[in-house]
Amino acid sequence: MQKHYTGLIERYRDRLPVSKSTRIISLCEGNTPLIQLQNIPRMIGKDVDIYVKFEGLNPTGSFKDRGMTMAVTKAVEAGSQAIICASTGNTSASAAAYAARAGIKAFVLIPEGKIALGKLAQTLMYNATIIQINGNFDQGMELVKEVANHAPVSIVNSINPFRLEGQKTAAFEIVDELGFAPDYHCLPVGNAGNISAYWKGYKEYATERVCSNRPVMCGYQAAGAAPFVAGHKIDNPETVATAIRIGNPQSWDFAIAAQQESGGWFDKFSDEKILAAQKMLSQFEGIFCEPASATSLAGALHDIASGKIPEGSKIVCTLTGNGIKDPEIAMQQCADAKPVTIEADLDAVKRAILDCL
Ligand SMILES: *Cc1c(COP(=O)(O)O)cnc(C)c1O
Repeated sequence: MQKHYTGLIERYRDRLPVSKSTRIISLCEGNTPLIQLQNIPRMIGKDVDIYVKFEGLNPTGSFKDRGMTMAVTKAVEAGSQAIICASTGNTSASAAAYAARAGIKAFVLIPEGKIALGKLAQTLMYNATIIQINGNFDQGMELVKEVANHAPVSIVNSINPFRLEGQKTAAFEIVDELGFAPDYHCLPVGNAGNISAYWKGYKEYATERVCSNRPVMCGYQAAGAAPFVAGHKIDNPETVATAIRIGNPQSWDFAIAAQQESGGWFDKFSDEKILAAQKMLSQFEGIFCEPASATSLAGALHDIASGKIPEGSKIVCTLTGNGIKDPEIAMQQCADAKPVTIEADLDAVKRAILDCL
């Protein structure tokens, strides 16, 4: 069979833990667009370059696919017949898809009623076994760690080091495209795997002199789920941004190291601010990300306004997931913009258009 370009493992093979004989499980993930914002910088009247890394365009609609291609490739290489994860939604969708691709089984633990509709639909379609728990992500995570000691399943949460290996390639792509690392890199932080992975990627490229600089890492959380801002874990995290509704981040030490080594910071933003940023991106740039993803832009805009991120800066915000995953929030966001219904005739359509101009 002819061999085709597959995805990020092929592209960055020499920087990832695979060998010539490894069977790569890929859905052509990665290589996502880095889009420069045009209208929002003008609207805020600041001289800044803001780029968004739109990870919502990965095969299952989130950055989790970067880690999952590596984690499932390595699980299959080790002979696993089944994988398991706890998830706020996107990890389960991604694990289910890559398990389907590999021909193995996926078990996912999700918090009942707290995952976005699109993520649930995906996970069902990819035919994973879904176990809903009366509890939150953090409780699911503890259960998964426990059960993996008693059952023949590989954990594919970001405590699996291969996940971070795959995810670090997003930093490579940014440097390869810009020719340098940005001055600031802004991310939503939940379990903190992604901020840790980006920092690892930037450090590797800087060490190998692919680029000469490293960004300041800015980790932004939802106000009701902000353990890094509090400095300790949180018992009952709450936020509309369900992907970051996490109180006990598993990559705590890595994320603190990323913040300290880069001279960065953590901050938190209200659900209202997060949703406003999500709407703003859709309305003024044509980029529809999910609520959690917009936390990166909410934070960047706040820190640009205060001058903490100075004018002249080049900033990358990761948009972690696709807005289509969470149709219920999108409909709530647009409750005032009800579509008009009219008769199916030319005059009525003309009137409807002229009324709006
Ligand atoms: C998983 C996820 C996050 C959080 O990433 P961590 O690595 O857990 O910090 C943020 N946004 C979306 C859309 C996610 O799926």
